Amino acid sequence: MRVAQIGSGTPEIAVVAGVHGDEPCGVRAVERLLDERPTVERPVKLIVANERALERQVRFVDEDLNRAFPGDPDAATHEAQLAHRLVDELEGCFTFSMHSTQSHADPFAIVNSVSETANELVPQLPVSAMVETSNFAEGRLFSEIDTIEVECGLQGSETAAQNADRLTRAFLTAVGVLPGDTVHRDLPVYRLTDVIRKAQADTYEVFVDNFTEVEAGDPFAAADGNEQVAEEAFYPVLMSSNGYRDVFGYAAEKVSVLTPSTAAD
Ligand SMILES: [Zn+2]
Repeated sequence: MRVAQIGSGTPEIAVVAGVHGDEPCGVRAVERLLDERPTVERPVKLIVANERALERQVRFVDEDLNRAFPGDPDAATHEAQLAHRLVDELEGCFTFSMHSTQSHADPFAIVNSVSETANELVPQLPVSAMVETSNFAEGRLFSEIDTIEVECGLQGSETAAQNADRLTRAFLTAVGVLPGDTVHRDLPVYRLTDVIRKAQADTYEVFVDNFTEVEAGDPFAAADGNEQVAEEAFYPVLMSSNGYRDVFGYAAEKVSVLTPSTAAD
């Protein structure tokens, strides 16, 4: 784990990259900040988390770090030990953690629960949606540390790296680390309601687009040609044919749309 800081004093803001070793976009954004060392109005901690997995260009070494929190210093796995050290490092910091996906090119934010802070900050980020994980946060970083996660785009793409850079700067501006103003956007809010499992198969297909409503009765995915049909309407989130080993992704409901006037209330 690499830990750095810009500005003096004890940081209450942190930016985390590389929780997953096959998602290099955030690492580029952090390295760029460290190269440029912008003048800051309050200190910020910068962390590259899973360096061992990043070196190997794999999601994780032993287990998924973002399912390993709170971790344990005496754990048998690299990631469970790392989770413990990361929580220690981030204690007291409001944290911004960057990811990328195989499912959706447009950036969106993921929060544990929709809080006043999230309602205030996330509409100032260049994201197209905010997703509340609610019951599906077990083992994730934000189950321990107050965190906004962002999905920056498609894994390994240049666009994701550029998005990570824009997202980080918008976040740091919104929390007053960097000077300047942000733009408030309309922000649809979704809440995860279900995991969409997939059966063991050789080929997987997904027929639907993330954040676009699937009607009851519509086929939305298939495993070896066996179609899965929606029992009720839902919004797919983080759905992809091969992104995860045993799930296609998640079903969500649309909760609300935050508009600049409601976000400012
Ligand atoms: Zn990730």
